[in-house]
Amino acid sequence: QSFSELGLPDHVLATLATAGFTTPTPIQAQAIEPQMAGRDILGIAQTGSGKTAAFGLPILAGISKLGGRPAPMTTRALILAPTRELAVQIDEVLRMLGAGMKLTTLLVLGGVSRHSQVQKAARGVDIVIATPGRLKDLVDDRKLRLDQTRWLVLDEADRMLDMGFIKPVREIAAAIGPRRQTALFSATMAPEVAELTRSLLKDPVRVEA
Ligand code: AMP
Repeated sequence: QSFSELGLPDHVLATLATAGFTTPTPIQAQAIEPQMAGRDILGIAQTGSGKTAAFGLPILAGISKLGGRPAPMTTRALILAPTRELAVQIDEVLRMLGAGMKLTTLLVLGGVSRHSQVQKAARGVDIVIATPGRLKDLVDDRKLRLDQTRWLVLDEADRMLDMGFIKPVREIAAAIGPRRQTALFSATMAPEVAELTRSLLKDPVRVEA
């Protein structure tokens, strides 16, 4: 299989070629097409499997298709991650993959200056990558609205649950509302992850690396 069969925009294919991504990894080969068709995804995959591009590429394609700019104080996509380190890595991969488009991303992380995050959120962004606690703060303080958000990703969901983020994760999903497309990635399928999947995903396609 090749990336060119997956319906991705030309600028993304060009960027993938430049980056030396010649062949989709197994998780990408399984997960990209259903997401391009609007399906929710349950991905069982470890770091190193290429999961970031597996959920990122369909979002970049969707944002390209929408065109225009995000409205002030809104984000088109939200990616939740358990740790700052993972969020920073996701942001780096997405900005690399989105190099051929005018993509705006924003990291919303605890423990770093809130002021610059609030200022950037005010202009509106394509993709917010966040840890759940600080994101919930910004939403509660009405610095960021989730009513225009069409894509939600829960990355390393098992670790987010282990770290006690279940409440903000559920509240954030509820704030986005039912018209979202959701992808949940987890290294393990613990009972708590299964329960979160049942409550937040609609008829998901299950893919495994
Ligand atoms: P991830 O599992 O998302 O953390 O990705 C692991 C590493 O694999 C990252 O450095 C990616 O840039 C790289 N990668 C992801 N997909 C591909 C691909 N299809 N071909 C080559 N490298 C890839």
